[in-house]
Amino acid sequence: KPTSKTTTGKARTVVADVAISSPDKVLWPAADGCDAVTKADLARYYERVAERMLEHVADRPISIVRAPDGIDGQRFFQRHAMPGSNPRLKLIDVKERKPYVGVEDVGGLVALAQAGGLELHPWGCRPGDPETPDQVTFDLDPDEGLDFADVMAAAKTVKAKLEDLGLTPFVKTAGGKGLHVVVPIRSDGRSRVEWDQCKAFAKAVAEALKADDPDRFTTTLAKKARGGKIFIDYLRNGRMATAVAPWSPRARPGATIALPLNWSQVRKGLDPRAFTIAEAVALLKKPDPWADFRKSEASLRPAIKAMGL
Ligand code: ATP
Ligand code: MN
Ligand code: MN
Repeated sequence: KPTSKTTTGKARTVVADVAISSPDKVLWPAADGCDAVTKADLARYYERVAERMLEHVADRPISIVRAPDGIDGQRFFQRHAMPGSNPRLKLIDVKERKPYVGVEDVGGLVALAQAGGLELHPWGCRPGDPETPDQVTFDLDPDEGLDFADVMAAAKTVKAKLEDLGLTPFVKTAGGKGLHVVVPIRSDGRSRVEWDQCKAFAKAVAEALKADDPDRFTTTLAKKARGGKIFIDYLRNGRMATAVAPWSPRARPGATIALPLNWSQVRKGLDPRAFTIAEAVALLKKPDPWADFRKSEASLRPAIKAMGL
């Protein structure tokens, strides 16, 4: 539920105490039966989903896809401080880099809407600690021509492999053609691993899955190597790598969002295009499929050993 009033006056729209300029500017034009989404709609969307989203984005370095004139205008990936930015946006210090943009509360998310921030891509690090991974992401990218059913089957294969390794995988749509399988990992004390270990683990799992089923999987980034296969993109797991955040909108037609799912939803009939900004109110009425995400952390160390690394 919105935590603060939205007031629309003659020239003033305020969401979560952040003034939204040009609130009626269309960011996503109406398409395929979807209504247009305006900047005010985006601001209210972030306000609504803040509670669920912040757990996954707060206090991490974020890359923002900004498209101030909407999805048909110019867009850019912004990592560092925005000139003249709202005080609700924070700076996140990162070793040997300029500080990144970060958010810590609902006002920060709405300030991103005000800056034309349509997508959020955080690091997979622990909040407040960019040097420590706290999740492993397998981004499943189907070659053109594959069905979503193939992606769902692949996600279940990845799930089974990770469960064999003693981990608890979660699944989300990416708002596009793929699915992301995400494993929360412990990052405290002796469980802590380095980025290189996290990435090496993800690579080893991807290579093992390819070796088991080379007709179905590839681990080669080059599009031309895909040949009707699913690319298991393990590259989301290095230092400075990102993946689209749970609940992030996508700067694509239809205003789809990246949505956390239950594994039981990963079956015939699932259509990631149905999850949109316009559907947020209905989607938020359901229990959070990722409610146990953090409670499900496991140490990556035994899994790394089991992979022979
Ligand atoms: P889809 O379902 O269409 O694959 P996706 O978000 O998984 O959606 P990918 O192209 O597979 O899209 O990219 C995976 C992740 O890699 C993105 O979510 C993003 O965080 C990161 N990424 C991709 N391209 C770039 C880029 N040019 N610059 C920075 N990060 C990128
Ligand atoms: Mn992908
Ligand atoms: Mn990818």
